[in-house]
Amino acid sequence: MDTALAPRRLEHRARVTACDEVARRTFRLELHCPELAAAVRPGQFVMIEPRAGGDPFLRRAFSVGDALPGPSGAPDRIVLWIAVIGKGTRALAERRPGETASLLGPLGRPYDLGDPAKPLLLVGGGIGTAPFPLAARARRAAGAAGGLRALFGFRDAGAACVVREMEDLGCPVTLCTEDGSAGAKGRVTDHIDPLLAPGTSVLACGPNPMFQALDRHLAGRGVPCQVSTEEPMACGYGLCFGCVVPVKQGDSVRWAKSCIEGPTFPIEAIAWDRVRSIH
Ligand SMILES: Cc1cc2nc3c(=O)[nH]c(=O)nc-3n(C[C@H](O)[C@H](O)[C@H](O)COP(=O)(O)OP(=O)(O)OC[C@H]3O[C@@H](n4cnc5c(N)ncnc54)[C@H](O)[C@@H]3O)c2cc1C
Repeated sequence: MDTALAPRRLEHRARVTACDEVARRTFRLELHCPELAAAVRPGQFVMIEPRAGGDPFLRRAFSVGDALPGPSGAPDRIVLWIAVIGKGTRALAERRPGETASLLGPLGRPYDLGDPAKPLLLVGGGIGTAPFPLAARARRAAGAAGGLRALFGFRDAGAACVVREMEDLGCPVTLCTEDGSAGAKGRVTDHIDPLLAPGTSVLACGPNPMFQALDRHLAGRGVPCQVSTEEPMACGYGLCFGCVVPVKQGDSVRWAKSCIEGPTFPIEAIAWDRVRSIH
């Protein structure tokens, strides 16, 4: 049987191997979960129970940030980067090594990494930088000859995360902050143009206002760009309709479940003027 079509287990019990604060209110959670680590592709996500025992009850969605090789060389751990904003993320930040956690995954449509011979630019805003070490790792494994770079934007130096991991994977990072406290001053759209060598494709993840600005900035320039949306969702696999995004259909829109049609979409597919912004 084609292994890509073989049925896969969706629920996993993972063991916490590390949970550390790596930037302001931002935690790096590492989980031992070999089956998931081997299956996940860049841009996919997991739904994780915040605390054993179900308080809060609903799982929360997180991009799988990386899949780390174990002693055999095969991936055996996944890494999540978690910004603490409410009850669920606070509970996850309190996870300790040795605890177990129930996860569903890998979920969602991965990024299309495209032709490895062509340049790829990874654009992350804030905690939207999380999915990119896995993308850099996959790109390296594909023996990519086209250049790989990242452009990461944060509010300030204290919020910066995932930069060292990208550099360790051989991906140079252009850093910018809104207040100029680290890297260049400004937002990603202020600094993207010099990084768009001919033939470059863009993968982006961040808040909706960043996507809206990118959409305006790249419009009509022939730069393929995929975004990974982060609409709050309750189930993660197509049942609850919590995560719908407006997708263009002729002159109107239809509401697509971002958990199964996304979370990655071509930037031009989304009707950004209809997107709600809760950031
Ligand atoms: C596919 C996907 C991937 C994600 N990847 C990551 C990731 O890698 N790292 C990360 O830190 N977060 C990620 N998120 C967002 C994360 O799921 C939410 O921050 C988390 O569910 C909030 O849970 P909470 O209980 O702490 O907050 P809640 O108590 O549920 O909410 C607190 C406040 O945050 C708002 N909020 C809740 N969810 C979101 C959201 N998705 N976007 C903006 N505001 C929200 C609520 O409206 C509320 O005002 C991702 C979301 C999706 C859908």
